[in-house]
Amino acid sequence: MSKAYPDQEIWFFTGSQDLYGEETLRQVAEQSQEVAAALDASGDVPAKVVWKPVLKDSEAIRRAMLDANADDKVLGVVTWMHTFSPAKMWITGLDLLRKPLLHLHTQANVELPWDTIDFDFMNLNQAAHGDREYAYIATRLGLARTTVSGHVSNPAVTARIGTWVRAAAGWQAAQDLVLVRFGDNMRNVAVTEGDKTEAEIRLGVSVNTWAVNDLVAAVEAVDDATVDALVAEYEELYDVVPELRAGGERHESLRYAARQEAALEAFLTERGAKAFTTNFEDLGELRQLPGLAVQRLMGKGYGFGAEGDWKTAVLVRVAKVMGAGLPGGASLMEDYTYDLTPGAEKILGAHMLEICPSLTTSKPRVEIHPLGIGGKEDPVRMVFDTDPGVGVVVSLADMRERFRLTANVVDVVPPTADLPHLPVARAVWEPRPDFTTSSECWLTAGGAHHTVLSTAVGIEAWEIFAELARTELLVIDEATTRRGFADQVRWNQVYYRVAQGF
Ligand code: MN
Repeated sequence: MSKAYPDQEIWFFTGSQDLYGEETLRQVAEQSQEVAAALDASGDVPAKVVWKPVLKDSEAIRRAMLDANADDKVLGVVTWMHTFSPAKMWITGLDLLRKPLLHLHTQANVELPWDTIDFDFMNLNQAAHGDREYAYIATRLGLARTTVSGHVSNPAVTARIGTWVRAAAGWQAAQDLVLVRFGDNMRNVAVTEGDKTEAEIRLGVSVNTWAVNDLVAAVEAVDDATVDALVAEYEELYDVVPELRAGGERHESLRYAARQEAALEAFLTERGAKAFTTNFEDLGELRQLPGLAVQRLMGKGYGFGAEGDWKTAVLVRVAKVMGAGLPGGASLMEDYTYDLTPGAEKILGAHMLEICPSLTTSKPRVEIHPLGIGGKEDPVRMVFDTDPGVGVVVSLADMRERFRLTANVVDVVPPTADLPHLPVARAVWEPRPDFTTSSECWLTAGGAHHTVLSTAVGIEAWEIFAELARTELLVIDEATTRRGFADQVRWNQVYYRVAQGF
């Protein structure tokens, strides 16, 4: 089975000590290789799992952690104390570790061999207390880590490990993310602002601005053959309306959209950037607000935020990486308007143009309509409905002294009726636990109106991502109550200030 991250690795470390003698340590090595191999063979685990020799002393542990830090292929490390590994040995190494950490609490055997169990067996299989000793020191050191408990033959265990690998991949993608902004934020908008220096410290992401004129020049430099090829691709992949097709009276608008796509992609590639923003107030000599081009680039895995919203562009990119290879997708989304029918409330999410086609398995239509704002030519865009299913919307807000992720688990549903006059791609969802609780809690959290909607990875991956980023995450789901949520917001104010120190 092919891995979503074929070039990246998880290193599997097994803890023990010299006390047990050759024969036991030989079995520890053998059995831990079997556990690592089972994880590597699991379709749930999307990176290569690499077994490393059993760690028996402080110097070996220190060296193993430094090696993991230094190797760019390594997404994270799994640790398991097959036997008892006195945890003072782990202090130096764990303190140096800079990669995501998963503590796997497992055992080689599933069932106890009740009839034959002797003290040799007890000596060999003592993770039950060995892992407790290890977890004590991990907790005392204050390590951000994910703990997964159970046998690796259990699909629930491999699924959780797989989700952790995905979160670690998203974390690594943020660490080296270069984000290109064309222009600044939409004038006077508050929640799309943020501390870009703090974002680089906390998340690793490098956020910088380029003049839109640089993009204009790139658009003009695209050659006709490139445009021809893209237009042919559009006509193949999408239902392009006749007026935009070759020979149609507005075909030139489609060609211009293709020109924008080619220019944007080349511009980002040249700078090693995997995310970008635009602002309809600052388009320079661009003839259209990039719509189709942005949708296509999100479809290729780029992060995007509209109106200069670089924070949401980061989330979209992270969601793309975390969801690699899974059904469903990820897109910029905006809570747009409501159906407030009592008991059947729904949120209609959309944007001016920029919704990613990874949210649908249907064939998008490519249409052209006026925009109403921005004073430019009519932009070309893909129009479609998001596939029904479970999703999560996540926003990132700058609360001045920290970033806050707010997330809501939602059920994407089919629109109640056709939307023949709505000229944009959209998603319709019912938020959990219900509309009132969800929206009141979201507003209490000060969550943004821009989000990423992810239908590929769920809330569990975002929880791990937030832990890795040591960033606040407020979750609204089926277990949320208004009172409990309001308390959590209040307590978090204290916790995050204290946790950051002074
Ligand atoms: Mn917007």
